Amino acid sequence: MDALRLDAEAAEWQERARRFVEEELYPAEERIAERGSIDADEVRELRVRARAEGFSHYNLPQDLGCADLPLIAQVAIEEQAGRATNGLGFVVADRGPRELVELATEDQLERRLRPVLRREIVEAWAVTEPGAGSDVGGIAATATRDGADWVLDGEKWFVTGGDHAGLFVVLAQADGEQALFLVSRDAPGLEIVRRPHFMHDPYIDGHIELRLTACRVPDRDRLPSGDDGARRWFTIERLMIAARCCGAAARLLELATEWAAGREAFGQAIADYQGVSFPLADSLTELLAARLLTYHAAHELDANPSPGVAHGKVAMAKLYASETANRIADRALQIFGGRGYMTEHPVERHFRELRVDRIWEGTSEIQRVIIARGLFKRGAEPYLA
Ligand SMILES: Cc1cc2nc3c(=O)[nH]c(=O)nc-3n(C[C@H](O)[C@H](O)[C@H](O)COP(=O)(O)OP(=O)(O)OC[C@H]3O[C@@H](n4cnc5c(N)ncnc54)[C@H](O)[C@@H]3O)c2cc1C
Repeated sequence: MDALRLDAEAAEWQERARRFVEEELYPAEERIAERGSIDADEVRELRVRARAEGFSHYNLPQDLGCADLPLIAQVAIEEQAGRATNGLGFVVADRGPRELVELATEDQLERRLRPVLRREIVEAWAVTEPGAGSDVGGIAATATRDGADWVLDGEKWFVTGGDHAGLFVVLAQADGEQALFLVSRDAPGLEIVRRPHFMHDPYIDGHIELRLTACRVPDRDRLPSGDDGARRWFTIERLMIAARCCGAAARLLELATEWAAGREAFGQAIADYQGVSFPLADSLTELLAARLLTYHAAHELDANPSPGVAHGKVAMAKLYASETANRIADRALQIFGGRGYMTEHPVERHFRELRVDRIWEGTSEIQRVIIARGLFKRGAEPYLA
């Protein structure tokens, strides 16, 4: 099997996503660079247009009226989305809350998730805390049983999309185990305490800090088996990060190659200097390896032969694609010289924005922990197949 040979359906989604990114998102990037900020109305408009073209909730099951695309097609879309900066790619890569739908009870689906599926509200995941990020087991937020309710107390950091979320998925320690709770934005005791700024700003989403103080949640809003749900969510998110990194790296490589071929210094094209062409050769080689790993991991998860092995391969894809994309961004910026350092230039924006891909949804070190754990548990063989 050739991991990069897409079937007709996935290839068509990929092509349409690429067209949308180039025709709609690249011009929007330029407007953001000129203004220095995101225009929420403009993003809303872009979302409406992307939705009209089917780029929304395409990962959800068909009985909910959605396309139920396999992961391989989702990766093809996300890869194209990664070519845009300012997080605009999420306009196209607008996956619905599949993991929540699979976890939720019928009652939770109807009361809590229907508004998300109707796109009246969006959800945000609140797992990380000031005292615990990588070490999810170390979270301090508590859920204490009180009659038919749970009472939540704690602090959550970096809640992506929390600034406009209508529903929070909150991880807390409940009776000696970890559990996920669906908490409405207007729940008494839930408060957004800070909207910090980040290296990738201006960005389509904020990453807010949340405080829960005696926040009462009915027992029927506790998701069943929170641990598995959170794990599946992390795995899919990591795969999509790898895909977006491949897209960003491809754009950077194309830009830098074109520039190197046309820019002259000391009487010849800078591409003629091996100091310039060799880093590009390395970038092409590493990008192919990152794409192969990412698409291979997607195939594995789709086929689901062994979730443990597939989980490890996704960790490899996330680790390698994010580290590679950061290297490629650094080389591209160097090849552009001073121009690459200008905020109006996509290379400058990708350089800043890709940095977080080595951190969120599990740092590079945590991916190595996962890979090494799998290696010592199962040996190398299943991972090399
Ligand atoms: C922009 C942004 C958006 C985010 N969005 C969300 C979100 O929507 N929801 C959410 O819940 N969280 C979110 N996060 C949090 C993110 O997942 C965490 O920042 C990440 O998991 C790392 O946790 P930490 O920042 O607490 O770092 P720490 O866990 O404190 O790690 C610090 C350093 O120690 C290293 N380290 C830790 N343990 C080990 C180990 N065992 N071996 C080797 N090295 C180790 C880490 O790799 C890192 O380099 C977001 C973060 C950012 C920056």
